[in-house]
Amino acid sequence: MRMCLRCKHEMVENCYIQEQGVSISDVVIVEKDEDYKKILHPVKAAYCPKCGYTEFYINVEKSSAEKKAKDDFVSRINRASIMEEID
Ligand SMILES: [Zn+2]
Repeated sequence: MRMCLRCKHEMVENCYIQEQGVSISDVVIVEKDEDYKKILHPVKAAYCPKCGYTEFYINVEKSSAEKKAKDDFVSRINRASIMEEID
């Protein structure tokens, strides 16, 4: 649950921004990992129904889960490479 930074009211989450004139791609935050591969974080919006304050955010739990899955995969590959070198 997100609380309004201005008035402390509960915010409405999982909203998106839509350009009304020209259609544009979904907005994402791009993060480059240590291999310079891009990790895309879809940007979401939330607004306060009481005062109208609006903010952007990303789903940190989902991003962290995807990053952990990738780290686990890389870790398994590295372990397999080490085991090949030992054999
Ligand atoms: Zn507010």
